[in-house]
Amino acid sequence: MAEKRDYYEVLGVSKNATADEIKHAYRKVAKKYHPDMNPGDKNAEEKFKEASEAYEVLSDPEKKARYDQFGHAAFEQGGGAGGFGGFDFGSGDMGDIFGDIFGDFFGGGSRSNARRNGPRQGANLRAAVRITFDEAIRGVDKELEITLKEKCNTCGGTGAKPGTSPETCSKCNGTGQVVYTQQSMFGMVRNVQPCPDCNGTGQVIRYKCPDCSGTGYIKVRKKIKVPIPAGIDNGQSVRIREKGEPGINGGPRGDLLVNVNVSRHPKFQRQEYDIFSTEPITFAQAALGATIKIDTVDGPMEYTIKPGTQTDTKIRLKNKGVPSLRNKNLRGNHFVTLVVQVPERMTEAQKEALRRFQEAMGEVPAADSAASETAKPEHEKHEKHERKGFFGGKKKK
Ligand SMILES: [Zn+2]
Ligand SMILES: [Zn+2]
Repeated sequence: MAEKRDYYEVLGVSKNATADEIKHAYRKVAKKYHPDMNPGDKNAEEKFKEASEAYEVLSDPEKKARYDQFGHAAFEQGGGAGGFGGFDFGSGDMGDIFGDIFGDFFGGGSRSNARRNGPRQGANLRAAVRITFDEAIRGVDKELEITLKEKCNTCGGTGAKPGTSPETCSKCNGTGQVVYTQQSMFGMVRNVQPCPDCNGTGQVIRYKCPDCSGTGYIKVRKKIKVPIPAGIDNGQSVRIREKGEPGINGGPRGDLLVNVNVSRHPKFQRQEYDIFSTEPITFAQAALGATIKIDTVDGPMEYTIKPGTQTDTKIRLKNKGVPSLRNKNLRGNHFVTLVVQVPERMTEAQKEALRRFQEAMGEVPAADSAASETAKPEHEKHEKHERKGFFGGKKKK
C-alpha cells in the first residue's frame, strides 16, 4: 500500500481550516472525482476514496484532534489496509453533507435507473384546438392532425436493417446496466448506471434500418378525433389516452393533451357555468310592460317584463347557462341585464308625442311645450325659460 497522503493535503486546506472550509473543500474534491463523473477511471476512484476518508476524520472534532496529534498512526489499529469502514458517525454534520452530495449525484438519476429496463409509459404530447362559444356549450368533435411516432414497419421497431438484428451489447452483456462500486462514507456503495454504449437497451445496432435511421420509429401524420364535452371552458384540456409518444420497453403510449381555446361570443360572457348578457328594451316597454325576445344559447326565448321595469334590472333565466362537465343535465343560469334605450334620433311626430307625454306627466306646461324648440342649444332654452318666467312654476331671480 502506498504512503498515505496527509488529510489536509488531500482536501487542499490548511491545518487551520475551519469546519466550513473543510466541508466546502471536501464537496469540491468529491464532486470532481466522483465515480459518476469519471466512469471507469481508477485514479479518480482512488482520489474519491481518499478524500472521503480525509473528510471522515477532519469533520469529526475528536478524530481531528487525534489525527492532529498522532497523524495516520492514530487510526492504524481499527482501520486496517485502505479501509475506513470501521469509523462511526457521531457528527450530525455528516448526514447533512451526505445528503447534499448524494442528493446532487444520485438525485433523480438512480431512482429512474432502477426501473430503466421496465415498461414505462411514453411522454405526453400536447396540442391545441380553437372552438366557438356555442361549440363549448353544446360539445363538439374536432379533428386534429398531429405527428405521431409509430413503430417502423421496415424493421419491426428494432431499428436494425432488414436481414440483420440488434446485437447484444458487449459492454453490459445485454443487461443495459453497468455497476460501479465506489467507496462512500458508509462503506462500499453499488451504483447502477444505464450502459453508455447501448443507452440502457442492452442491444446495439450495427446495421441501421434505412427507413428509421435505427430509431425503430417513423413519424406519421395522423388525424385524431378529439371529442370535446359540452360545458368545457377556455383553457381546459381534453385528454386522449395513449395518443402520445410511444411507450418504452413495451409500456403504454403517453397521452395526448389537447388544450381548448374558446372564442369570445359577441353577446354572451361566461363565468363558471353561468352566462351573462344585456338586452335592450324601449322606454315604452319598460314603462308599460311587454313580452320581449331574449337571446339565449338555446336560441331566442320570450320573456314578459313587468310594467315599470327600471333600467339595469337583472333577471335570471334558470338552467339556461352552461351544462356541467360532470353532469350534462345540470346547467348554470343565464343572467340578463335589461337596459332601457334612449332614442338618439326621432322624427318630428315622435318628438311631438313625447312632448305630449311630458305634458301629461306635468313636466312642462302645455303652452311652453308647444312653443319650445328642442333643436336650440341649452343656454338659449334657459334664457327663454327665464324670460318667460317658467322654471318649475317658480319665477327666477
Ligand atoms: Zn426501421
Ligand atoms: Zn450496453
